[in-house]
Amino acid sequence: MKTLITGGAGFIGSHLVDRLLAEGHQVTVLDDLSTGRMANVQHHLHNNRFRFIKGNILAATQVEEAIKGSELVLHLAAAVGIPYVVEEPLKGMLINVRGTEVVLELAHQQGARVLLASTSEVYGKSTAVPFAEEADRTLGPTSIRRWAYATAKALDEHMAYAYQDRGLGISIVRYFNAYGPRLDPRGYGSVIAKFVIQALAGQPITVYGDGLQTRSFTYIDDAVEGTLLAATRQEALGEVFNIGRAEEITIYRLAELIKEVTNSPSEILLVPYDQAYSHSFEDPRRRHPDVSKAARLLGFQARDPLVDGLEKAIQWMRQQLELAGAP
Ligand code: UDP
Repeated sequence: MKTLITGGAGFIGSHLVDRLLAEGHQVTVLDDLSTGRMANVQHHLHNNRFRFIKGNILAATQVEEAIKGSELVLHLAAAVGIPYVVEEPLKGMLINVRGTEVVLELAHQQGARVLLASTSEVYGKSTAVPFAEEADRTLGPTSIRRWAYATAKALDEHMAYAYQDRGLGISIVRYFNAYGPRLDPRGYGSVIAKFVIQALAGQPITVYGDGLQTRSFTYIDDAVEGTLLAATRQEALGEVFNIGRAEEITIYRLAELIKEVTNSPSEILLVPYDQAYSHSFEDPRRRHPDVSKAARLLGFQARDPLVDGLEKAIQWMRQQLELAGAP
């Protein structure tokens, strides 16, 4: 199968590249390396089934070149991470909305099936936990920059359905805090990467708010499995799926766990939100997936428990810091 992965040098994208190449498929990656990293795909450059194009999804000519001949498009290129969209709201919205429109339009012209990578962020601060795919969403006011991300990704989902009405084959996945090796080693975009770096450096682990907010972290191998099932199964056409693990943990407990696994002397520091962010901020209190639809239609179940996944993520992060010459 010929597959284009937009954002294929990013965290989830590059793991999809590994998996598809290992299965013998042809893979093209389109990535502008803004948050993606060449190091994530470097090991494939000698493979003649792999093609890398440095380019941006806002540039239709680059997308057109990359998409030519593709049967499947895994659309992961996006401005991701709440810190990014809070600091760069306009850029984030343009990439996430206009870029997705370019990809959907050209996939439609090409006749390729599309998997849209969306996010559990679209549920916003809903209290209807666990979040079911068809449940109502609850977002805060537009003056809170964070909600621009959920709004843009929800608009992407609406656009995907609109293209489906025109005959494009689409499926959507909503990731629940995916983590694992290749999380940005600068600590960007994920609380796990950030806490691990702090713990390994013996710096305070900065828990925002009271630390009782929860997340349901999903190990990368599970995220990849769920993505490919949703991208390829006939039953998944026109459907949206939560890709997550039904294991909920408070951020404070996560900090304790990372401190334990890294054997770190770091203190755990509670940081008020108004010190952590320069704009007013809202944080979903609980984020927990209803995993029954993915189980029923795709036979998908996330397997890796958090402690096991954390050990693998920490081991990788240690190696990165050693390579970078950290003390
Ligand atoms: N968080 C934290 N300390 C940090 C970074 C994040 O306590 O240094 C919290 C953040 O407020 C949120 C959770 O960790 O409650 C997950 O944050 P992340 O940015 O990983 O993803 P989100 O689930 O918010 O999209």
